[in-house]
Amino acid sequence: MGWWFKMVLWQRVLLALILGVVVGLAFRTFGGTYIADGVTRYAGADFVTVWIKPFGDAFVRLIKMLVVPLVFTTLVTGVISMGHPSKLGSIGGRAFSLYVLTTLIAVSIGLVFGTIFKPGAGIDFTDVVPNVLAGEAPGFGQVLLNIIPTNPVFALSSGNMLSIIFFALLMGVAILIVGKKAKPVGDFFNSFVEVIFKITHWVMEVAPFGVFALITWVTAVKGVETFSSVLLLALALYLGCLTHIALVYGGLIKLVLKLPLIRFFRGILDAQVVAYSTSTSAGTLPVTITCVQDNLGVKPVVAGSVLPLGATINMDGTSLYLGLLALFAANAFGIDLSMTDYAMIALTATLASIGTASIPSASLFMLAIVLPVIGVSAEQTALMVGFILPFDRPLDMMRTLTNVTGDAAVSTAVAKWEGELDEKVYRAVATV
Ligand code: ASP
Repeated sequence: MGWWFKMVLWQRVLLALILGVVVGLAFRTFGGTYIADGVTRYAGADFVTVWIKPFGDAFVRLIKMLVVPLVFTTLVTGVISMGHPSKLGSIGGRAFSLYVLTTLIAVSIGLVFGTIFKPGAGIDFTDVVPNVLAGEAPGFGQVLLNIIPTNPVFALSSGNMLSIIFFALLMGVAILIVGKKAKPVGDFFNSFVEVIFKITHWVMEVAPFGVFALITWVTAVKGVETFSSVLLLALALYLGCLTHIALVYGGLIKLVLKLPLIRFFRGILDAQVVAYSTSTSAGTLPVTITCVQDNLGVKPVVAGSVLPLGATINMDGTSLYLGLLALFAANAFGIDLSMTDYAMIALTATLASIGTASIPSASLFMLAIVLPVIGVSAEQTALMVGFILPFDRPLDMMRTLTNVTGDAAVSTAVAKWEGELDEKVYRAVATV
């Protein structure tokens, strides 16, 4: 076992990912097939779903378990370590502006790649079972109101991120303003956060096994041919996301912040692989926070405040995808788009990505907000969701990786500008 622990974690996780693809394909290819309800099914995939996937599910549950306590305590301690409430304004303002800016660029990249690849052209919807989206999306005013929890304990237990962020910020500011008398509460949170970090480290030790199980399952059930049905969409999304990561985050780190780029990507590799295999950026948050603090030297004051916010509202991969899907719909349903339509797509996709839950396939359900602006009917939207949902997983994996990379890049930028980046750690030879 010594060789295993000699490898740094990201190497173990990457090895698990590659092994997962190989084993998953082997199960799919050699497990045999049978026909059920007129469709071909893979016996190997069934076996993987019953016997291997639960290990992946257990891993996802373990990291999700950490999200609420981690977000709450890192935010409270993050604000306390700011020393003065005014710092919250400058960190928050910088983070929010960068989040919105990068999201707008991401939709634009999505629109460019959508124009080049024309996904959706010539798609035949005749056999598709429509997937009707549940209910009306709440109005913008209601969404804002809902940020204020009527019962903070309930917000914590239901994992309502924006409400948790709101309450944690208030707690932190109040502890700062009360001062000496609130010191025991502050000390409690500071020590609590250490305990949660310890558990996070333990959970990361099982990450390679969880990742192996999840990837084996995705490959066994979906196969590589999944891509071929939505090949152009997948190609446009993967290339679009890679372009966004290279140009926008790469440009930000290298040209704006003047920091070595390789260190950045190496530092967040664990978070990227976990994001890729779990398809949930909220679930990946504990790993993102650990990577950014331990490997990039972002101080807890920034990591603890900027990352939970980012995991909730900053989704560049998602907005890029929403832009692509809008063009997909326009091609599939023969809608001509004007310049105003493009601008409206960019605007609604940005807003929708802010409101998207950080869970698997969440962005598909935001189509109900984006598509009506270009005249796609509710029935057509249902048809599209029904068509894409079965193929969405490999696409979701790439979006989530992009979302998490964006959060890490923005937190590094804010840390540098706020003087909260330990460049010695950033530039040190990566050990994890
Ligand atoms: N799964 C994505 C995330 O958690 C959201 C989405 O695009 O569906 O970041």
